[in-house]
Amino acid sequence: MMNWMKIDVLKLREGPIDLEIDCLPEALDLVDREYRFRKRVGGLVHFSLVEHRVRAKGYVETVAEAECVRCLKVVEVPIRGLLDIFYENNPALLTPEAQLGAGDDENLYWFDGEVICPEEQLREALMIELPMLPLCAPDCKGLCAQCGADLNEGPCQCRVQSEASQVADEASDWKAQLKKIRLP
Ligand SMILES: [Zn+2]
Ligand SMILES: [Zn+2]
Repeated sequence: MMNWMKIDVLKLREGPIDLEIDCLPEALDLVDREYRFRKRVGGLVHFSLVEHRVRAKGYVETVAEAECVRCLKVVEVPIRGLLDIFYENNPALLTPEAQLGAGDDENLYWFDGEVICPEEQLREALMIELPMLPLCAPDCKGLCAQCGADLNEGPCQCRVQSEASQVADEASDWKAQLKKIRLP
């Protein structure tokens, strides 16, 4: 992990610290099955002492990249996570329940009382913003299941044909109906 992302509580006693974030996605361990991260991560987090806790408030942002689940086009999804959390040197925060966010305050994190390394919380703030399904547009029409054409660019040949044959079917239906009427 990178050393510059360390907040020294002794320095915090002299006054709030602004942490400017400008790092590679690797520094925050940004890994996802669906999304790739190629752009730098930016942001600004303000650290201050609030009684016996340290408050971290700010934002972190980057761009995630993935294939649209319907048309497979590569889409870039800007993501911005907001942060407003507290750190406390309280061993109760290290219990498994607290670690799973089942504690009373899910915005409360443990630190050793001396140094805060916020990478994990920054990472979480970003990952939670990733859309469940990457889509190039909310109304993406996807690909034709038969010919693979991108239906966002208009109807494909098989659709035109199936519509034409549907019209033909309806026409022959009509003739069949007519025959039925005439025959008896
Ligand atoms: Zn799409
Ligand atoms: Zn088609």
